[in-house]
Amino acid sequence: MIAVATPERTCVGCRRRRGQDELVRLVASHGRVVRARPGSPGRSAYLCPEENCLEAAEKKRAFARAFRGPVTLDPSVRAIFARPWNDERR
Ligand SMILES: [Zn+2]
Repeated sequence: MIAVATPERTCVGCRRRRGQDELVRLVASHGRVVRARPGSPGRSAYLCPEENCLEAAEKKRAFARAFRGPVTLDPSVRAIFARPWNDERR
């Protein structure tokens, strides 16, 4: 038997492939992009937990593409990415 590996997903910001558990899963709810709860169904978009990737995704309208329509980024999502995930680099 082959062990089930963590599925890989592509970050909609930088297009890098990473394990699903390393990425932030986002879903669209009533036209707003919010963080997915574990197990929530539906179309989703994945992003590295990096502000750069969020900015890149917005710049190229990756969310509209991922969710097949115009969506607004919920402020709660921005807050997730604004949080320092890594030690500050200089
Ligand atoms: Zn990324």
